Amino acid sequence: MSMNRRDFLKLGAASVAGAGVSGNAGAVMREPLSLPPEAVGMLYDSTLCIGCKACMSACKQANGLPPQPEGEDEPMWDSPVETTGDTYNVIKVYIDGDAAQKDREENGFAFMKRHCLHCVDPSCISACPVSAMIKDPQTGVVSYNADSCIGCRYCIAGCPFGIPKYQFDDPLGAIGKCSFCSHLQAKGLTPACCDVCPTGASLFGTVEDLKKEAHRRLEATPGDNYVFPRGNLSEDRPPHEGAIPLYEQHVYGEKELGGTQVMYMSAVPFEKLGLPVNVPEYGYPAITEGIQHMLYQWMVAPIAVLAGLVYVVKRNTSGKSGGEHSSGEAES
Ligand code: SF4
Ligand code: SF4
Ligand code: SF4
Repeated sequence: MSMNRRDFLKLGAASVAGAGVSGNAGAVMREPLSLPPEAVGMLYDSTLCIGCKACMSACKQANGLPPQPEGEDEPMWDSPVETTGDTYNVIKVYIDGDAAQKDREENGFAFMKRHCLHCVDPSCISACPVSAMIKDPQTGVVSYNADSCIGCRYCIAGCPFGIPKYQFDDPLGAIGKCSFCSHLQAKGLTPACCDVCPTGASLFGTVEDLKKEAHRRLEATPGDNYVFPRGNLSEDRPPHEGAIPLYEQHVYGEKELGGTQVMYMSAVPFEKLGLPVNVPEYGYPAITEGIQHMLYQWMVAPIAVLAGLVYVVKRNTSGKSGGEHSSGEAES
């Protein structure tokens, strides 16, 4: 079949337009990721937290991190207000009005624990160009490999929870981020913050078991006595007993941004505790990687157009020069 340049351009334009029409949002998004069945996580129940910061100290000790005292003249308290390159876990406090009552939105206060949420579909991993952030295929824990890191800090920009930080004061700085005490878990131990927590506010277990525990609490009647497990759901530690509070009827992290392995319960709205709300139920990488994939697919059409043009031009050009040459040969 013969094809001239005009026919070929029409065909190329039609194929590019076709790819564009099929590029709606659903077609752009890649499949959401899911967790392995044995994925582990943490349930942080803000209503159980007493703000003792034992988890912050234990985190420092378990991970060999230096103290970061606040106040240059009188450093009194190892207490950064946000995660830093050397502080993987912070306890924050929400305060409103006269802060008369715990776990109340108005004229109340509530504690909040911030560290890596070990996302099901982590943006930090998607943003990292050299795979220095890694998700464990069995536990789902997101850890960091300083040996691979090139210091670009894309993971910091990519994290929707503002967690990873860079050690700017170290000439050989690295990213600092909770790796869920993987080194302790590898020895069969409980992550340090859950291990030390006196009330069970930070509770370790498989994601599935933690979700069941969270929903048991939501289904219980406020005011009723409840036996709150402490430390590690798979161990038989003495529990903490107390009354069921007036929970927000939602477990944060079950669905937000594709789900997180660290989940939250609270009696004040989650946005007051600094968590992003009104976010999609898919991780941002599902969209960004879908778009990347589609762009690569779309590049096939322009490349085919270019290759075809080169072919047509070459054929036409060589046809003309071949004819002149032939005619020249005949003359000679
Ligand atoms: S919270 Fe941030 S650093 Fe942690 S896994 Fe999610 S995207 Fe990565
Ligand atoms: S799991 Fe380990 S590294 Fe992560 S916040 Fe708790 S103590 Fe720190
Ligand atoms: S150790 Fe437990 S109770 Fe104390 S601040 Fe940490 S999470 Fe809250």
